[in-house]
Amino acid sequence: MKKVSIIIPAYNEEESLPFLYERLNSLMNGLTSYEFEILFVNDGSKDKTIELIKELREKDKRINYVDFSRNFGKEIAMIAGLDYATGDCAIFMDADLQDPPELVPELIKYWEEGYDDVYARRKSRKGETWLKKFTSKMYYKVLQSLTRIEIQRDTGDFRLLDRRCINALKKMRESQRCSKSMFSWIGYKKKEVLYDRDPRIAGKTKWNYKKLIDLAIDGITSFTTSPLRIATYLSIPTFFALIIYFIYVIVKCITQSVAIQAFQAIILLVLFFSGVQIILIGIIGEYLGRIFNESKNRPLYLVNEYNGERENND
Ligand code: UDP
Ligand code: MG
Repeated sequence: MKKVSIIIPAYNEEESLPFLYERLNSLMNGLTSYEFEILFVNDGSKDKTIELIKELREKDKRINYVDFSRNFGKEIAMIAGLDYATGDCAIFMDADLQDPPELVPELIKYWEEGYDDVYARRKSRKGETWLKKFTSKMYYKVLQSLTRIEIQRDTGDFRLLDRRCINALKKMRESQRCSKSMFSWIGYKKKEVLYDRDPRIAGKTKWNYKKLIDLAIDGITSFTTSPLRIATYLSIPTFFALIIYFIYVIVKCITQSVAIQAFQAIILLVLFFSGVQIILIGIIGEYLGRIFNESKNRPLYLVNEYNGERENND
């Protein structure tokens, strides 16, 4: 019997968990031809999330959990999920039921047909502001324009990954993670499934715009070095402008024998070039920061507990 791991990162989800378990339970009972594992990754929740998960495990041994030592963020929780998942395939699902469990049979159906990465694409996004919809649309546009690798639009992390994909992703140990671009990067046979994204069942979203902007910048810089090329692109017209301006000044001085307003020219030039330099230094800093973080080579996360056993994290 094939085993399906459902990986659920959870951060302060005590209100959603009972609903989530109910829906998952009826899903699993309906799909008797598969063995299931529900792997919760408790991402340092400050509420009763981990207590609830442990209670659930008491009555249902299909539930496993990884309990982080603190909040590491959803991206890290996802890779931890892949590290601990024991299934032949893994499905990422949010704890707030925004990803309907009822779609799982369809994901599995395509997996059985031989697809390695069956991802759910949103037809609609209920309960989200137009600003969030707009910014995420723009983000996809920008990211796609920067790279040759095809990026799936309107997809989140809700997807089924074959063991091959799991093993590939486990090899990617960078600390600033952008799963969206990693799913694209690994390739393999992909299949799209459409669904309606529901509003969050209970509790509050953990995202804010600062987090989203951080994620967007991480996504772009982790995926492509083309922002570095801005330097090259900017330097060419700048160089030409400089030469043309230089010739103009020389010619004017010789033919009309007038003195130019030197201080104005200097101020303009200084402002212009320092502006350009600041932008470029910013970009270099962006990458330098990443190199710094990667070079520390820290473990991606620390585990407090896995199904009741203490990890020694040596
Ligand atoms: N999450 C997490 N760590 C965090 C923030 C969120 O594991 O630091 C989990 C959260 O519990 C949920 C999923 O990531 O299962 C999506 O979070 P949320 O619903 O808040 O984001 P949104 O759906 O609003 O983008
Ligand atoms: Mg959500």
